[in-house]
Amino acid sequence: MPEKDLCLRCGKCCISELGGIKKRCPRLFLENGVWSCSIYNHRLGTTAAVIHNRVFRCGLRENQEKIIEGCPYNSIQKIKPPSS
Ligand code: SF4
Ligand code: SF4
Repeated sequence: MPEKDLCLRCGKCCISELGGIKKRCPRLFLENGVWSCSIYNHRLGTTAAVIHNRVFRCGLRENQEKIIEGCPYNSIQKIKPPSS
């Protein structure tokens, strides 16, 4: 995906939030000032967090609807055609 070149490795999209509770995915780790995923090649579909019995699964950032401050994917989402 060319979009992944835009990632700033801030790690914010690996934090799930529900009802005021935030949980960071246990696969996320900081190395040399950037955040990395310990299972990057096998991450999609794995459980990133469970909050109030809701399971959050790892997925592609471009499929997330949330706006994250400073994330280049925000603008990619804005130019996506509306889903039917
Ligand atoms: S929020 Fe955006 S910039 Fe930050 S790690 Fe996720 S995709 Fe990369
Ligand atoms: S598994 Fe997904 S949510 Fe967890 S650190 Fe890796 S990329 Fe982030």
